[in-house]
This record gives sequence, structure tokens and C-alpha cells, in this order.
Amino acid sequence: MTTASRVLVLNSGSSSVKYQLLDMAGPTRLAAGLVERIGEGTSRLVHEPLAGPAAGGGRRERTGAIGDHREALEAVAAELAADGTGLDSPELAAVGHRVVHGGTRFTEPTVIDDEVLAEIRSLIPLAPLHNPANVTGIEVARALRADVPQVAVFDTAFHATMPEHAARYAIDAATADRYAIRRYGFHGTSHAYVSRAAAKLLGRPVADVNVIVLHLGNGASASAVRGGVCVETSMGLTPLEGLVMGTRSGDLDPAVVFHLARVGGLSVDEIDSLLNKKSGLLGLCGDNDMREVLRRAGDGDESARLAFAAYVHRLKKYVGAYTAVLGRVDALVFTAGVGENAHQVRQAVVDGLAGLGLAVDPQANAVRSPEPRVVSPAGARVAVAVVPTDEELEIARQAYALVAR
Ligand code: AMP
Repeated sequence: MTTASRVLVLNSGSSSVKYQLLDMAGPTRLAAGLVERIGEGTSRLVHEPLAGPAAGGGRRERTGAIGDHREALEAVAAELAADGTGLDSPELAAVGHRVVHGGTRFTEPTVIDDEVLAEIRSLIPLAPLHNPANVTGIEVARALRADVPQVAVFDTAFHATMPEHAARYAIDAATADRYAIRRYGFHGTSHAYVSRAAAKLLGRPVADVNVIVLHLGNGASASAVRGGVCVETSMGLTPLEGLVMGTRSGDLDPAVVFHLARVGGLSVDEIDSLLNKKSGLLGLCGDNDMREVLRRAGDGDESARLAFAAYVHRLKKYVGAYTAVLGRVDALVFTAGVGENAHQVRQAVVDGLAGLGLAVDPQANAVRSPEPRVVSPAGARVAVAVVPTDEELEIARQAYALVAR
């Protein structure tokens, strides 16, 4: 049993580290920040103490060279020490690491030892852009506080409950098994948090509630959650499948890839980059930020209108499909940057879906708030809700639950 109650949450990207320090006794967010452009000459660290001894001190920003993730974490440790919440404190109970891909091996948060770290490394072929940075973050944090449990929380884990018929692609089974090709799903921490928070918002036990969650950020995914258990999600082997996203195409005929290679002469890496980085809203209209798309569409820009329409059309198809998968839907829940902020998207997604029991109250839908809220009319068959996601809190909770026994 530990009495320490602080958890440092690290989300390590290839050239960035996002972090939060939480005290789980509250829970209270003590500090949050970000180091970006690591290894690029002019790095930037933004740190904000939010509670505790240095609360109210305001945001601190510094620029200068930060060569690698080790230096980045040392810089973060120095900022936290200046707040009086240093990482050398006996109060630190755990470090929670966001790890993107857990494959079929990791379906639960896991305390990291040498073997676990080696297995996370072995999953790099499934997530070549993400898992290497996650591994680096773990190595650096372990070196800094070898005595504190490091916990991996996997983006894929919440979706591990998908039934085999939803997780399997209809391809040759031996080939699929040989190369670990199946639908894993991502954003799981967010889908887990938001589906639970939605049940709370409705005042019903999680086990009784069926929800469709639309996580609409720069990356976007949908999930169907029956009684707290994920039964379907839109991302697959990688985060490319599913919805129209900021820069990713989402669903397309796989033959597009052959066509681009055979007829267009593009290499596999070029096609990968095209579909992951130059498609979605960006590909359709030149902007990946929904705020810009909405502004331009409002000004009558045809390509922005088309991008918005394609984005919404795909969402409607998924809402319809997941209604069929669940059989009964209690709530349609919007979250992440677009889902929480763009009332136009929420309105457009439910337009014409009265037959599925879906509608929004325009006034409630237009309210901007950081609080979870219902935006459908009173008495609606299906609640439409906005629930701000909090992946850091969810990672901290899961990590803390594992160590505070
Ligand atoms: P996330 O990945 O959850 O941080 O979401 C980032 C995305 O949210 C941005 O690319 C924007 O497109 C979108 N976003 C943020 N604020 C707004 C807003 N007020 N209206 C529409 N979209 C927004």
C-alpha cells in the first residue's frame, strides 16, 4: 500500500513530450506542459503550475536547444522542482506512459519491467511512428526514477473486447495471423473515459448504457460501447481506417493503393504519406483545421463545403452502422477538439436522423462549456451529449489503480 498519491503522465511523441502531474487524492491537476521540437535546434518548453505551492504563478515558456528526450524530461523535472513538486519527491507514486500500440499482448495497463519494455519494442512494426517514441519516454523516466513504478497504458487496450468478427479483416486467415493483421483500434483511453463519463451524465450505471462515441480531434475515431464494453471501433490495424480526419483519408477501397502504385508510379512510402498526412480535410480543401474549414465554407468556398460535407457524411454512415451493431443506443457522444467545440458538426451529423431518435436542441447545442452536457431536446429517445475527453486523467487513474493496492 502506497501513501504517495502523485502520478506523472507522459505522452511521448517523436519530437515532443506532453506531460501532466496529478495528485490522485483529489484528483487535482498540479501542473501541465509540453516540450516540442526536441532535437530540432529551437525547442520550446511550456509549463503551467495549476495547483499546489506554485499555483497561480502563470505559464512559463522557454526556448532553446533540447537535444533529446532525456534532456526534455530533465527540463520538465527542473520546472516541477521549481514549483515545489519535484519528481524526486516521495509523493510520486507512479509514472503513467501513453503507449500507442499494445498489439494483442497488452489489453490492460501494465507495470513495465525489462520484459514488458522488450515486448513494447517488438510491437514497433505495428506502430513505427509512435511506439519508438513511447519506448524512449519509458527509458528516460525509468532512468530518472528507477524506484517508482512505470505503467504503460495502451491506446489499443479498450478495444481488445471487440468480438472476433469485428476485429478480423476478411482476408486469408493464415496471412493475417502471420503478420498480426487485425483491427486493433486507437484512442481507447479517450473512448473508455468518455463512455463512462456519459453514463454518469445520464445518471445510469455503465453496465446498462449503450453509447456511440465520436472522438473528433485531428485524428478521429468512432466506437460502439455496450454496457461499458467496446464492441466496435472505426480505426483498424493503424489509425488510418475509418472517419475522414484532419489529414488522414479514413476508409477507402484498398485498390486505390494498387492503382497509385501501378498507374501513378508512387512508392509505398509516398502512398503512406499521401493517405496519412495529405488527405482527409487537408486533401479535400487544403485546410486540416475544422475552424478554417467552417470559416471558409461559411464564406461560400466550394472545396471547404465539400470537405465539410464529406466529413459529416462519413460520420452519419458510422452512426447508422453502429446503431445497427448496438441494436439500442442510449447516447451519441461527441468529444475531442471538433466534437467538443464545433456545434455545426454536431448539428449536421444528426440532421435527418430523427428516424434513429437523434436530434439536437439548437440552443443547448450552441452553448460552449468545458462541462459534460446533454444537447438533445428533453425526452429525446437517444441523448446527444458533449463530454470533454481527459486522456491524461484516465491514464493517471489506470496507472494509480495498479500501484495503489
Ligand atoms: P484535438 O486533436 O482533440 O486536440 O483536436 C484538434 C482539432 O480540433 C483542431 O485541428 C481543430 O480542427 C479542432 N478544433 C478546435 N477548436 C475548434 C473550434 N472552436 N471549432 C471547430 N474545431 C475546433
